[in-house]
Amino acid sequence: MPGKYKYLYGPVPSRRLGRSLGIDIIPFKICTLDCIYCQLGRSSKKTLERDEYVSTDAVLAELAEKIEDGLDADYITIAGSGEPTLNSQIGKLLNAIKKITNIPLAVLTNGTLFFRDDVREDCAKADLVLPSLDAGDEQTFRRINRPHADINIEKLVSGLAAFRNKFSGPIWLEVFLVAGLNTNTQQIAVIKNLIERIAPDKIHLNTAVRPTTEADVAAVTPDELEAIAAKLGDSCEIIADFSAAHAPTTDTRTTPEDVFSMLKRRPCSVEDISAGLSIPPNLAVKHLTTLQQQDLIESYHKNRTVFFRAK
Ligand code: SF4
Repeated sequence: MPGKYKYLYGPVPSRRLGRSLGIDIIPFKICTLDCIYCQLGRSSKKTLERDEYVSTDAVLAELAEKIEDGLDADYITIAGSGEPTLNSQIGKLLNAIKKITNIPLAVLTNGTLFFRDDVREDCAKADLVLPSLDAGDEQTFRRINRPHADINIEKLVSGLAAFRNKFSGPIWLEVFLVAGLNTNTQQIAVIKNLIERIAPDKIHLNTAVRPTTEADVAAVTPDELEAIAAKLGDSCEIIADFSAAHAPTTDTRTTPEDVFSMLKRRPCSVEDISAGLSIPPNLAVKHLTTLQQQDLIESYHKNRTVFFRAK
């Protein structure tokens, strides 16, 4: 039965989090950034404005139902079809979830709003925070992450460093590598300097092994990733999965076959699939990834949007 939940997806297998139940608290695709490697496509709205973008009560009602149905997950992960800290109620939501379950709470964020006291305070209620840093200088930051005009790399890094001082839980920092853009020796050296200021517990290296919006986003090879990981030190792990994230999603209400049926009728974007099946975009991406790994579909770009079609 597709569409039982509007805000929840999974639990889905995650390399970083085990079995993770995603909660999507931002409408498609409102973000502070517009990363060239974003699986969700271009940002429809780039903003720094926090708001209750989705009803906290509705999210909590869905989660309560899911728990009652029997929820087996390693983490509940607050994410979004955009940047979840833009949701002004995220702190309230984290507090409320803690009252109904002991499952640890993770927040997946790009970290760009951590310069704000209220965002740091909200996210400190989580058990684990997973921010991102993909560049060592302003020019590369603008090239890869295409930020809102009022965000710059110094604001991002000092916000994350301030959060580190406040938050005693683990911070796992993701660095997304794009071949030719942030992978040379000088760039890795400056990224390393910034990481030292943030002092995360782990560094997770990723690259474009899944479909991305931009045609020219090239993945880094496993050997290059190994070499970069060695430069970044012992706390660095590679999370890019070149063998394909073969584990199927454990969400039983929609399957990759539902998505494949849609694509056999007509090409669709992530947003089309999400709307057509009434599932969160992140779950649509998971299903698309499975179908790509099975070589059943292909992607192409049209009018700045990535479309998928059956082969
Ligand atoms: S990858 Fe994340 S931070 Fe970047 S544009 Fe997409 S949703 Fe926003």
